[in-house]
Amino acid sequence: MIRNNFSTRKTKSGVVSSTTKGEEVSWREKRQKYLSDKSKDLVLPTAAEANLEPRFIFDSDTFVIHLCFECRQNSRKLEAIDIDDEHQKLELVLCRICRSNFNIQRRSKFFNHELMIFKKSTEEDDK
Ligand SMILES: [Zn+2]
Repeated sequence: MIRNNFSTRKTKSGVVSSTTKGEEVSWREKRQKYLSDKSKDLVLPTAAEANLEPRFIFDSDTFVIHLCFECRQNSRKLEAIDIDDEHQKLELVLCRICRSNFNIQRRSKFFNHELMIFKKSTEEDDK
């Protein structure tokens, strides 16, 4: 983490490293430490939290899903399958974390966006 380098230089990310009393910590190293500290007490999602139910997945007219590097790598190996002249089926490989995050996103959108908008609209109706 700490290097005996007295010069200031640009890192690979293009961010100038800070130099204080001969200690140089790159942006990348700071980020690694920050992520390590933040993830220390995290508990990985359970199978139940990661369970996907297609009947709920496609309720919204938008479909946004975040995929980790491993899931992107595994998904891009798969073929698009022709259903008919109009439709193709895509398959995705989703790890437990990506699936759980997708469920969390959907819940968050419902409770923090849709319900808020509903509440606001009903309050405006009451005026
Ligand atoms: Zn993943």
